Amino acid sequence: MTIQNFVNGEYSNPINNNWIDNYCPANGKIYGQIPNSTEEDIALAVEVAEVAFKSWSTTTVEKRSTILLKIAEGIESRLDELAEAESKDNGKPVNLAKSVDIPRAASNFRFFGHAITQFASESHDSTGQNALNYTLRQPIGIVGCISPWNLPLYLFTWKIAPALAAGNCVIAKPSEVTPMTAFLLGEICNKAGLPKGVLNIVHGLGSNTGQAIIAHSKIKAISFTGGTKTGAHIAAIAAPKFKKLSLELGGKNPNIIFADCDYEDMLNTTVKSSFANQGQICLCGSRVFVERAIYDKFKTDFINKVSQLKVGDPGMEETDLGALVSKDHLKKVMSYIETAEQDDGTILYGGQEISVEGLENGYYLMPTVIEVKNNSCKLNQEEIFGPVVTIMPFDTEKEVLSMANDTTYGLSATIWTNNLKRTMRMSKALESGIVWVNTWMMRDLRTPFGGMKNSGVGREGGFEALRFFTDTKNVCIQY
Ligand code: NDP
Repeated sequence: MTIQNFVNGEYSNPINNNWIDNYCPANGKIYGQIPNSTEEDIALAVEVAEVAFKSWSTTTVEKRSTILLKIAEGIESRLDELAEAESKDNGKPVNLAKSVDIPRAASNFRFFGHAITQFASESHDSTGQNALNYTLRQPIGIVGCISPWNLPLYLFTWKIAPALAAGNCVIAKPSEVTPMTAFLLGEICNKAGLPKGVLNIVHGLGSNTGQAIIAHSKIKAISFTGGTKTGAHIAAIAAPKFKKLSLELGGKNPNIIFADCDYEDMLNTTVKSSFANQGQICLCGSRVFVERAIYDKFKTDFINKVSQLKVGDPGMEETDLGALVSKDHLKKVMSYIETAEQDDGTILYGGQEISVEGLENGYYLMPTVIEVKNNSCKLNQEEIFGPVVTIMPFDTEKEVLSMANDTTYGLSATIWTNNLKRTMRMSKALESGIVWVNTWMMRDLRTPFGGMKNSGVGREGGFEALRFFTDTKNVCIQY
């Protein structure tokens, strides 16, 4: 399967004709080639986007909205095909792609297709000065969207949809590890009537293609989701060029469980928040803190539930955990497990790679539970981004709050309790962009999404995203 760039509404090879192998995580085999695009490809995409911007930025909101809604329908009409492609490319269970990733990609277009029709700006009547101020929120121009491999089409469209809705033209790069569904999106956009050059999808390595996007002087804003180290690099390149930046980065999220919680609900959700998508979700609760009164019971019940998870072929309906995304990533995750004991950790469950019959070269790992003694250990401080959680007991609210905040990250946190006052106190005090109480990963696309500290800069979602993708101009008229 050869993947091509999508530039000016047409599929094309990279200008230098340089290609990278695409691997299937389920069996470790090469199953296609993707372009390793360079700055020449980005320059061409910018040229066509510049032309397209003239008409797209002045297209009526109703027309833009209609096209976005058609793209949503196009994604839905190809649900099975896209889910299978996502599963093959990423290693995630096909059921998960079918129930979460692809429906959410359609929702992203539908949501911003509607949201743009409701997007308004302020006006201020300056009484006494006989003046009226009104604020314009205008399309920025050409914007760059760069997304990671863990939720490929889901996160790719989460950026592209608001950027297009707001009237910008987009140069987008999916992760080179998972290019497949972004490739298919081009066809869907053409069928929906998106004009040529409005969305350009260019594939390749971050250090090559991605670098060319962030460095291009005509790309005025960058929306990036990925690792904190890459985010820092992008910020350093973009800052002297005064680009607008939205950075959604890593997390090391606490899952705080008090003895007064609804136990069964907490237990079932904690299995999901620990291991959904093989633990490769930036929102996974990778540090589980449990109040001492229920710690031993939780430990037994949690391990019992985790041991029932089925690791195997991502294409099978009954699979709970598929393959990790790549051999390199599997190695990285294993390196944390291998040094767990030096880090004063005890592996309570898992910790080993698994060989799946017929798919012996795939990247499979058992869900892994490690008991730790101290929040300052490497396992609790560094983002592992795999099917690995740590658990440890706590005695007081003050103690667990201090441990929850004792990390360089600040993306999300979960609290399990029925105590309202404690909920209010802790939600205020937790240093994270998102707090879930008695639930996990419940999303409403109108709400602000993003992290504090090293988890990012800016917020996505709802009108926050539309504000990011527009330039603000105030007009003051004296009368
Ligand atoms: P990376 O930071 O490695 O890559 C993210 C994207 O950036 C990829 O498309 C990558 O391309 C590209 N990239 C890499 N280097 C550059 C560069 N110099 N210039 C421009 N682009 C570049 O992250 P991963 O793909 O490994 O994703 C996992 C990370 O993403 C985790 O840390 C996770 O927490 C975070 N994440 C954050 C979320 C959030 O909302 N806060 C949500 C999901 C994930 P390539 O793949 O080719 O290297």
